[in-house]
Amino acid sequence: MAEENDTVQCLTAKEIKALVRPEFEANPEKFYPTKVFEDMGYHRARCPKCQVYFWRHTPKRETCGDSQCEGSYTFINNGFKKPDEPKMTYAEAWQSFKGSLTSARIPCEAIDRYPIVARWRNDVDFVAAGIFCFQPYCVTGELDPPANPLVMPQFCARFNDLDNIGITGRHYSGFIMMGIQVFNSPNNYKFFKDECLEFNHNWLTKSLGVDPDEITYIEDVWAGGGNMGPSIEYFVRGLEVGNMVFMQYKTFHDGSREELDIKVIDVGVGLERVAWLYNGSSTSYQDTFANAYKYMLSELKMSCDEEVWEKFGPISCTLNIDELDNVEKAWDDIAAKIGLPVETVRKEIKPIQDLYIVLDHTRTILITISDGALPSNVGGGGNVRNILRRVFMIMKKNGWWDILKMEGFLKIFEFHKLDLEGIYGKFPEYKSFDEII
Ligand SMILES: [Zn+2]
Repeated sequence: MAEENDTVQCLTAKEIKALVRPEFEANPEKFYPTKVFEDMGYHRARCPKCQVYFWRHTPKRETCGDSQCEGSYTFINNGFKKPDEPKMTYAEAWQSFKGSLTSARIPCEAIDRYPIVARWRNDVDFVAAGIFCFQPYCVTGELDPPANPLVMPQFCARFNDLDNIGITGRHYSGFIMMGIQVFNSPNNYKFFKDECLEFNHNWLTKSLGVDPDEITYIEDVWAGGGNMGPSIEYFVRGLEVGNMVFMQYKTFHDGSREELDIKVIDVGVGLERVAWLYNGSSTSYQDTFANAYKYMLSELKMSCDEEVWEKFGPISCTLNIDELDNVEKAWDDIAAKIGLPVETVRKEIKPIQDLYIVLDHTRTILITISDGALPSNVGGGGNVRNILRRVFMIMKKNGWWDILKMEGFLKIFEFHKLDLEGIYGKFPEYKSFDEII
């Protein structure tokens, strides 16, 4: 490094990724489970659109499979569910993952979720990813994890993408990350990349019945918190389903690295996406909030024009408000693709989007408050208050208070509990919950 410069240069995670990517790309057999890919009948290719290296089962998969390269979600109205089969519920989607991983060749143990209020950490208020539950001590090896290898349905909260909620189908303030976490120490080795790929592939193909031709695996690099390693994202019909992260190296300020003693696997799969993909629904929100959604539609005497949503769904992936310079133009483009006047599209989409926002936010409020957070004006409590106020504002704007009243509004939380019961069991009674709201 520059010796005449005596300030220490610290590379960001993004810079570290950029630095090692060429080396990873040039030596796939060293960093990725290439042998397992080959045994599964996959071949390495380069995406003509975004230039990433990815693995495909058939040359018919021309792009890497990311919705940005595919141009649309191709699973909408085209899921894996057989015509005579009932819709997969949100809870059943977790059961399929849990069942597959707990009966794998090296079985994982299923554990209960952690509280979303991250009291064991002083750097964050809420758990935003499953691995947060095991940081820092299980990752450093100072503490033993509760099970190893493990799977868990961790409720996570993120408050940075609120504008996209209700339209993209991918964005939520609160979501369940199905995780596989494995902690490999030198004297207690469980499994690493090869088996991880095999087990995730088995879940997709054997439990969900996804044809290997439909799956693409993207080679990527992960960096964060002073650690780094290869990662592999997997996509089905334009949708990112999961990401397998292999924390393998400790990184230094100049980008150099050394092998970690404890090699950690951190797999995250968005549960909200699984039933959506399987059922081929127009959005994920209907499957995620099934009972709460039905309740709201019936109380508010609203209906969802499936024809518009089924046309909107496949291209909703292009609507990322954060990345758009011109939101108005994006709506014009969408209306043109659907073949309906822009006003008609907005008039149908907007109230239903508001409904989905209310459902998303109230569920996050349910879990955060149940786990001990309180709406306030600082820190995590500020996030809870912010989304609660946003819900109240949407209710007022649409005239929904006049119909539901506070009594009817509070019932939404009971329907959320019903939707989550198949994953978390019965919620313990929380006497002052209604008063807090
Ligand atoms: Zn691509």
